[in-house]
Order: sequence, then C-alpha cells, then structure tokens
Amino acid sequence: MAADTTMRVSVLRGVGDVVMEQRAAPRPGPGEVLVKVSAVGVCGSDTHYFDHGRIGRFVVEQPLVLGHEASGVIVELGSGVTDRQVGQRVSIEPGRPDFTCAQCLAGRYNLCPNMRFFATPPIDGAFAELVVVHQAMAHVVPDTVSDEAAALLEPLSVAVWACGKGAVSAGSRVLVTGAGAIGLLCVQVARALGATRIAVSDVNPARLETASELGATDVIDARTASLAELGWSPTVLLECSGHPPVVAEGIRALAAAGRAVLVGMGGDELPLPLSYVQEHEIEVTGTFRYANTWPTAIELVASGRVDLDRLVTSRHGLEQAPEALAASRQDPAAIKAIVHPGS
Ligand SMILES: [Zn+2]
Repeated sequence: MAADTTMRVSVLRGVGDVVMEQRAAPRPGPGEVLVKVSAVGVCGSDTHYFDHGRIGRFVVEQPLVLGHEASGVIVELGSGVTDRQVGQRVSIEPGRPDFTCAQCLAGRYNLCPNMRFFATPPIDGAFAELVVVHQAMAHVVPDTVSDEAAALLEPLSVAVWACGKGAVSAGSRVLVTGAGAIGLLCVQVARALGATRIAVSDVNPARLETASELGATDVIDARTASLAELGWSPTVLLECSGHPPVVAEGIRALAAAGRAVLVGMGGDELPLPLSYVQEHEIEVTGTFRYANTWPTAIELVASGRVDLDRLVTSRHGLEQAPEALAASRQDPAAIKAIVHPGS
C-alpha cells in the first residue's frame, strides 16, 4: 500500500469551534504502528473540552484533535515492530507511558508522570484518518468484535478498572450511581464478575431502562427516590455521576467495610461523610484511567458477556464531529456517539 502523504483531521480551535484540516500524514517511528482509524467514540471529556476548552488543569491552548476511544487497521509498521502485522484490526489504548519509571515498572502505568494521552492537551487524539501508536498499545481484536465495539473497549477498560478497584466478585452487591456510558458498562462488568445485586441510580428514565436491560436488578429514579430507600446495603459503590451530593449519599448507603470507588469527575473537592466512613471502615478510592485492562475487556466482549454495540446511539462522519460532540446534550436517550473518520 502506498503511504498517504496527507490526512484529514477534525481540530478543536476553541470553545465550540471545531474545523476540518488537512495535515501531513504521520509516520510510525521505531516500535510504532500506523493505524487507519475506523471508529472513534465520543467521550464526556471530549464534549467537555468542546464546551469549556479545559478540564481541570488541562487547558486547550493550541489546536487540539479530540477523540481517545478508537479502533482501526494497521497500515504500516515502524522499524523493529515484530509482533504486529499490516492488516490487523486493533483497538487503540490511547496512552503512551514512558515504560521506565517506578510506577510503570510496578505495573501502574496509568500513574506514569510522563504519560502522553490522546486528546489531552497538548497531545492530539483520534478524530483523524491516521494515528501512530506504540505497538504495545495496538491491541489486536477478533473478527467477532465490531469496529465500534473495538473503539469502546476504552470506556469498557474504565469499568473493568473500577470494578477491580472495588474488588467486585461473586456475591457482591453493587450500587452504580450515574447511568451514562461508564455507569452502564460498570453494570455489565459487575454482572460478568458475579455481582448478584446491581442497583443503578440516575435522573434519566431512558438510561435507567437501558440499565435494566443490561443487568441492573434495581433502578432508582433519583428525581423521586433516595438511595436510602434501596432496602439492602451495597458492598461496593461505583460512583459514576460526579455529583458531590450523590457521592456522599452513595457512601452513606454502603454496608460496613464497603468500598467506594470514585469513577466520575466531580470537581476538585467534595465533602466526605467522614464519621460514616470512620465508623463503618469504608474504603474510598480514586481511579485514574486503567492499566492492563485490554485483554480482559476483549475477552468480555468476544465472549458476549458485555455488549458494547448496544451503547451506540448515533454515527457521524469526520465532518460531523461537532454534531457528534453535541449529541449527548441534544438527545436525552443518547449514550454513545461514534465518529467514522473514513466515511
Ligand atoms: Zn512511567
């Protein structure tokens, strides 16, 4: 295949300002592969950059290519690449740790201080026809996993990591607060891990209905009911709403010695029900992305334990990236918009 010399990318220039650009095609360096992008999921963080131009300390100060949930096909190998081949379909793990620091060597590469992560200023993401990734971060997927599902292995990895932090296992009683894409994926992973009760709370009835279809045993419409009315005590809270009052209420609902896993982003600080945490020996933990989750995520999808295609609610070409980024705002039933850079 002749290498393309240019490619189309969708670029965020400022708040609400996304335009198409023609750029030089990237070339894979040593140990890297060039991937022709098939599908890219739109994440809440992409929408947040589109709407606000920043997330916490990460500020868009120069044009940024969004998109970090991506799949594609390997079209070129850099020098020294031995265990990937041109033509392989891959799910892209969108981080590039340094592989050498203490955290990386401990297996916690998500905490690498030198991480370069897609669509996080100043690193460009995957709203592009081509991207370069390290071969270790291009995970080969079986043909039974669709291009869109392969892209959504990224948010699935967030759920796998969260359930791991919560030690969700057979007989766990799980409370998921927030039924967006991550919450719905936490429901599916918790069920696959053997959780026997899975409650989901949200203010959006369409999302609660989807949660039921995907395995939630109890749904709580947070507009009219409180978590205290659940009738049983969860052993694990997977907090995916990011709303401080929900975090506190979810922690207070936990059984003694329960674990609270903070997945959603809820601002820099929030009040903690400390006396409840102390008297019940609640463990509270943060989560930051994931590490070593792709093999598990691929198995969960390939075996049919987790349905990612079910979450796709709209599809867009690269030119329609602004519409894709706004989809969650405009349609209450929207869960996951997908951009197809090749179409
Ligand atoms: Zn490192």
